[in-house]
This record gives sequence, structure tokens and C-alpha cells, in this order.
Amino acid sequence: MMKDLLTVSNLSKAFDESGPVVDSLDFEVKEDEIFALLGPSGCGKTTCLRLIAGFERADKGEVKVEGRLLESPSQHVAPQNRGIGFVFQDYALFPHLSVIDNVAFGLTDIPKHKRNVYAEEVLCRTGMGDYKDRNPSELSGGQQQRVALARAIAPKPKLVLLDEPFSNLDAMLRDSMRKEVRSILKKAGMSALLVTHDQEEALSFADRIAVMNDGKIEQVGTPEEVYYNPKTKFVAQFLGRTNLFHAEANGSQEVATSLGPMHLDCDACGRVLCSIRPEHLTLEKATDQKPENVGTVVGRDFKGHDITYHVQLKGKKYLVHTDNRVLFEPNDAVVIKPLESAVILEGED
Ligand code: ATP
Repeated sequence: MMKDLLTVSNLSKAFDESGPVVDSLDFEVKEDEIFALLGPSGCGKTTCLRLIAGFERADKGEVKVEGRLLESPSQHVAPQNRGIGFVFQDYALFPHLSVIDNVAFGLTDIPKHKRNVYAEEVLCRTGMGDYKDRNPSELSGGQQQRVALARAIAPKPKLVLLDEPFSNLDAMLRDSMRKEVRSILKKAGMSALLVTHDQEEALSFADRIAVMNDGKIEQVGTPEEVYYNPKTKFVAQFLGRTNLFHAEANGSQEVATSLGPMHLDCDACGRVLCSIRPEHLTLEKATDQKPENVGTVVGRDFKGHDITYHVQLKGKKYLVHTDNRVLFEPNDAVVIKPLESAVILEGED
């Protein structure tokens, strides 16, 4: 079992009377772990990161790294003394230093004559080796972002904070940079706390994800857990497309739902709200089913290797994601078949 590196407990921060923007956060990042705070714009992710870095003061709670108290209402260690690396949204490169000097700047643990060699090596890994002698003002936003990443990870801090570090890269470059940065972090045994509103980025980059909504954490889990076993309606919807529907649970596992009889992993009774991902459903041609169980294909998104169908059933629209061998046309009569259990969500009737 990995040890905790960063511990955040009961952390809260308000800027004015409108209430806390970071509200009683509890989570830990383990040694060697890449952890993502995922949530919509304005939910408090950046404020949380700034509290951990030491750029904001906490109203309540604690931030500890390796058991050392860095932040609480009565304790404040200056950002430069926290031993944490960070990449913030505005990059903040030193404008008067060349690219390579920006990266070599923090390498105080390495003998002087080796600093530039190592800085260049890290720049090459982020694809910026050819730009080492330029000034930050001569780089595009995406290039500056890659230099900022190189600068933050070069000194191999135990913990690095990353605020939307890939936001200015095009889709292809973003993908390869995520893989590259993940591999650099893992190889050096660094932990990272990533802030993002992009669910795909959190799912592909992080070992665990905390899903945030309105200053609070709704769920913490592995990418598979938060995607396939969301606890709340917010998590189910924020992590990707899903089908929400009500069911009448009766204590048994096989229950009647608007999608027909379905397996639910629960022994609850009464009306419950359920979620099932479109890829956990498939379609079959309607033959001799009861008319009330027959749906109609009302649209489809063809994406080459897969297709998402829109199916109207009992006054509701469902999404069904299939591979491209399951072929139906608009107006076809179909039956929706679940391939997996649906998940019951908390806190909704
Ligand atoms: P984004 O993804 O858009 O960066 P976020 O989830 O990181 O959003 P924060 O930047 O933490 O959210 O902001 C949370 C809330 O706190 C917002 O409503 C914001 O307006 C407010 N806020 C942030 N910084 C300050 C500040 N210095 N003074 C007053 N309000 C602030």
C-alpha cells in the first residue's frame, strides 16, 4: 500500500459572503500517484490548487505534505519553501530568461555544468529542444505551456501541481504530451495533482479522480469506478453521456424499469434513479415484443468505427452506443437490451 504524500483535510476557503468556493475538501494523494480534480468551470479547482501551493490562505482545514503542516488558519509556509512544483494556467515563465535558462533555473541540486545538459534533455522530451535559446515572448501559447511543464518537472519535486497544463495544445499534441508527461512522472516517481474540466483528460491521465461540484467533492475513485459506478447524478452526467431512468426497486435484483426487466446491483426498495452508459445497451430488431417495449430509432451519429443511436421509448429518448456492425435505420422498430447492470444513484428520488 502506497503512503500518503499530500493530505488535504476539511479544507475551506471563501472570498466573500457568497459562501465557500472550496468547501470542506478531504482527499489524499499517494506517493507515485497521479490524482485529478475534475469539475466544471468555477467549481473551485484552481482555488484548491492555490491553497496547496500557498498562494491563498485557508479559512479552515489543513494541507500536509509527508506529514508536514504547510497550510492551516494558524500556519502558512511560503510557496517557495513547500517543495512543490507547479504549472499554472498563465505559465508565468521568466520573461527575461531564455527557454533553457527557465528550465535550468530550479535545478539547484545539480552541479552547475550539468544543469544545461539536463534541462535540454527535459526540453527534448516535451518537444521543445529546438527552441532552447528563444525567449518566452517568441513562443506560441502551446509552446510556452510545454516549457512551463518542463520547468516544473525538471527538478523532480515529489509533488507537482498541474492546472489545465495541456489546454493550449491541439488535439494530437495534447494526446502525445499527456502520455509523455505521464511517463516522465512515473519514471521519476513523482506524484501529481492535475486540475481539469475535461473528463477525457482526467480518465486517461490520472490514477484516481475526485469529481468536484460547487466547492465539494462528490466522489473519489479510479477512472473505471467514477465512470462505471457513479454515485450521484452529477458524476454520472459529468463523466460522459449516460441514460437516466427511474425504476421501482423491490428488494430483488431483477426489477421492472422503463427499459424492461433489468438487473440492479442493490437490495433497495421503492423508486430509485438509475444510470446506464450507452455502451452498456444494445439494440435488437423488434419481433413479437409487447408494443410498449418497442422503441423507434429517431437518429444516429455515425462515427466510422461506432454508432450512437437515439431511440424513443415510452416518451423518453435513450442513447445506445454500438459497434458499426449493429445497423439500423431511422424509424426502425427496435428493442433496447441491457448488456450490464444499471447503477443506482444517491440523493435523487
Ligand atoms: P476554471 O476551470 O474556470 O478555472 P475553477 O473550478 O478552477 O474554474 P476557481 O478558479 O477556483 O474555479 O473559482 C471558484 C470560484 O471562486 C469562482 O466563482 C471565482 O469567481 C471565485 N474566485 C476565485 N478567485 C477569487 C478571488 N481572488 N476573489 C474573489 N473570487 C474568486
